This record gives sequence, structure tokens and C-alpha cells, in this order.
Amino acid sequence: MIRRIEGGGDPSPAVLVVGQVRAPSQLLIGGAWTPSTSGRSLAVHDPSTGGLLATVADAGTHDAVAALDAAASAQPAWAATPRRERSEVLRRAYEAVVAHADDLATLISLEMGKPLAEARAEVAYGAEFLRWFSQEAERVAGHAGPAPDGRGRSLVSRQPVGPAYLVTPWNFPLAMPTRKLGAALAAGCTCIVKPAELTPLTTLALAGLLGEAGVPAGVVNVVTTSDPGAVTDALVADPRLRKLSFTGSTTVGRHLVSASSAQLLRLSLELGGNAPFLVFADADVPAAVQGAVAAKMRNAGQACTAANRFLVHEGVADRFTELLAARLGAMTVGRGLEEGTEVGPLISAAAVARVAGLVDASVAGGAEVVVGGTALAGPGSFYAPTVLTSVPADAAVMREEVFGPVAPVTTFRDDDEALALANGTSYGLAAYAYTRDLDRALRVVDALEVGMVGVNQGTVSSAAAPFGGIKHSGYGREGGAEGIHEYLQVKYAAVAS
Ligand code: NAP
Ligand code: MG
Repeated sequence: MIRRIEGGGDPSPAVLVVGQVRAPSQLLIGGAWTPSTSGRSLAVHDPSTGGLLATVADAGTHDAVAALDAAASAQPAWAATPRRERSEVLRRAYEAVVAHADDLATLISLEMGKPLAEARAEVAYGAEFLRWFSQEAERVAGHAGPAPDGRGRSLVSRQPVGPAYLVTPWNFPLAMPTRKLGAALAAGCTCIVKPAELTPLTTLALAGLLGEAGVPAGVVNVVTTSDPGAVTDALVADPRLRKLSFTGSTTVGRHLVSASSAQLLRLSLELGGNAPFLVFADADVPAAVQGAVAAKMRNAGQACTAANRFLVHEGVADRFTELLAARLGAMTVGRGLEEGTEVGPLISAAAVARVAGLVDASVAGGAEVVVGGTALAGPGSFYAPTVLTSVPADAAVMREEVFGPVAPVTTFRDDDEALALANGTSYGLAAYAYTRDLDRALRVVDALEVGMVGVNQGTVSSAAAPFGGIKHSGYGREGGAEGIHEYLQVKYAAVAS
């Protein structure tokens, strides 16, 4: 079912085919699979084994500009395509992704490492953005009315902002592109997608399916590269580009704010997080533990919305910690494709070393390991599910994004202290709160300085809801009624009558 085709085409000698899904090895420019002008290629590895999966074209700045040429030429016709037609293309794209769900899930698991069940959940979640925005495409509203002084009328309409550059991370190689593409295509924007170097295959496969679903040539272009800085600089300097949507680290996001200032690009930034997971004294503790496992362990903790710090009322902390440690300690760690695997590898050996460094430093600072606390033997880059207690509030594991299967637990005495700890970070993406008191829940939702709160649940993501952060977690929203507006601009006409 999984085949590697050697000699798949210079400069990309190895193409991966999974069942009915093929991950092309070249750049998608103007509807044609195109070799990179650099002649270079980049290798894609399986983090579960370290083995080579495929090689894909490594774009340079010339290729990026060619992709923008294609996107800019396709822009007028795509903007003029009736919304219902754009809607129907997205609907067919949704159906194509769902029809290939198992093969796409295998591909995600191969290049990214997550367990197959999670990869299937990512395909279902990612496909929902295509369905959601297929519906939103028809509902972009304007308004018209008489001017207040009775002289003339105002007409307000919304238009696509223009060619958009979509930069995605490696942790959700299908859902991050669809979350951006769904909104951009529905709004009438043409796109250049730049997936992460570590996981380009799923995006390439997705682009193939979008073409089959009827996305016209040049409307979606894909550029894979080992030099994202140079490719991005070339694109954001070009006045034809009008929009940049980025999901990734706060460091790169901050750089993009300044890099895009010359052309005053419209920006959407989905950046890092440091989500607090609050368990109040009146919480249903077993339910909180179940939510904690979901919020912490999805993608082995490699999610921007991952619970990063567990803040637990001192009256229930021992029980919560004991149950959480029992659950995490019993999880099966292994290759994502193997039946029964609950926790896959981290994305790289460097990621394992970084997580180990955070755990070791917190232990040196006084934290105690309840379970885990070590890297696991390879091949592949694995770290054991870990629970830490008595973690000092200023430990790096509490302040930095862990991006691994590590749950540091600390206690609080009252709601004020809980909220002060929760908000004591420069990030503001997600938070979770467990309490059976509705008044408390609503007070906490109001007081938390984040874009999203899970109340008595450990997941927040939904295509129908606005995903995004505040503070150093960025700005802009993806999904929900808000998502399409990131790709639309308002026009007003004053009409004498
Ligand atoms: P990253 O290094 O910032 O990479 C994200 C993307 O940006 C990749 O495609 C990367 O390409 C590219 N990139 C790197 N340097 C660039 C530059 N100078 N100009 C333009 N693009 C550049 O982040 P990561 O470590 O891969 O991903 C994890 C981060 O993403 C975490 O902080 C996580 O919280 C965040 N994240 C946020 C969300 C959200 O919605 N808020 C969702 C998922 C992840 P290469 O891969 O080739 O380096
Ligand atoms: Mg990177």
C-alpha cells in the first residue's frame, strides 16, 4: 500500500504513493508540477524510524516569484468566479479529502509521526474547513442604505484582498493548510502555500486533490523549500502579494511583521501558546483528568493549544496528579502506524533534546518526577509521557512552550491566585478550566487573557468557531464566521440619488 517510486523525476528522485494518494515531488506552479530552478531537492524523513520517505523539489526565490506570477495572473478570474461556483469547488474538495481519508491519514502519520487514530481525526477536522468555507463562500454580505441626511445612498461590499501567501507548520500538515485555504478560496483569493520543510508531502497530496476537485490552474500554488527566509523575503517584497497568513512560532511571526511592513500586507498570525489548565476545588476530578489527557497528549503535546501548565487547587492536587500519572504512565508509545500506539514520536531528535533539557532543568530547580522523565531509545525520536509535581512557578517548563508529552503540575489556593498564575505569561492562545460552578466558570472565561477557553473540555478546535490568540500568540481568526474576513476587504461607494 505504501510505495516509494525511485527515479520519480529529476531533481526529485523518490516519490511516495500511499494507496490512492500520491504525494507529488515537485512544485505546483500555475497548475503544472514543476522542478525547482535550483536543481536542489530536500529529503523527508519518518520521525518514527529516521528512514527516508521521499525527496521533493527545493524552491529558491525564482520559483517563489514564478508561483506569485501564477497566483497574480489567476487572481482576477478567481475573484470574478461566482461565489456559488467557488462554493461548489470547495465542496468537491471536501468530498475528495473525505474519500481519501485513510490514505491521507497514513501519509500524515508517516511524515509527522502521530498515531493513525489521531491522523484520521486530523483529516476529519481539516476536511471540515473545506466544507465550512464552502458554505461561507455564498454568505459574504454587504449592505446598502440611504445616507443619514437623505442625500444619496451608501453601498458597502466586500472584495477578496488578492494573492495570499500561506505559511504552515509541521504539526498538522493537513489541517493547517485547509484552515487557511478554505477561507482564502471562499473569499476569492489565489494562494501560494509554503508547508514546513519537515512535512511537505501531505500538502502536496492535498494540492493534487484540490486540482482534481476543480480548483483552476494558478489558484493554488505550492512551494516547498529548505530556505523559507529567502523565499518569504522575495514574496513579501513584491507589491502583487496582498496577504500573509502564518502559523508557527512567535519568533518567526514577529520577524514577518517587520518583513511585511514595506508592502503593508494584511496579516493573520497564529503563533505559539502556553495554555494553562485550571482545575478548581469543585471540579469533577476524573473528568478533568480525561480532559487533561486530551489537552496534553494529542500530537504528543506538539500542539499550540496543548495544555502547557496544570494549575490545580491544593485540595484536589494529589488526587488529580495521581490519576493523571496513572493514565500517562500506561500510554503505549510507539510508531504512529502501529495498531495500539497512543503516543507517537516527537518531530526530531532536536525536539527530544529540548524537552529533556526543560525537564532536567525543572528537576534541578526542585520539581519531582512522578512518571516518565526520560527520552526513550530509538530508532526514532521518542520521549516518555511525563508528570512533574512541585514545579516552581518560574521554571522554564512553565514559562516556555514545552511542545512535548510533559505535564508540570503546580497548586493554587484561591481563584485570584489561579487567574494571576494563568495570565502570568506573554502568550494568550488557549486555556482550559474545570469547575462545576457556572458563575465561577463564566468569571474565569471573562478574566482569562486568551483567545479560546475550553470549559470542562480538553479540546477547543472546531471549523465553526473562531480559532486564534491575543498577546504574543498573534492576531486574526481562522474558522467560524470570522475566518473569511481575514481575506476580504471592505469597499464603500457613496452614490448620489
Ligand atoms: P516555525 O519554525 O515558526 O515554522 C513555521 C513555518 O514557518 C514553517 O513553514 C517554517 O518553515 C516557516 N519559517 C521558518 N522561518 C521562516 C522565515 N524566516 N520566514 C518565513 N517562514 C519561515 O515553527 P515550528 O517550530 O515549525 O512550529 C511550531 C510552532 O508553531 C509552535 O510555536 C506552535 O505553537 C506554533 N503553532 C501555532 C498554531 C496556532 O494556530 N496558533 C498552530 C500550530 C503550531 P521550515 O519548516 O522550513 O522551517
Ligand atoms: Mg522551523
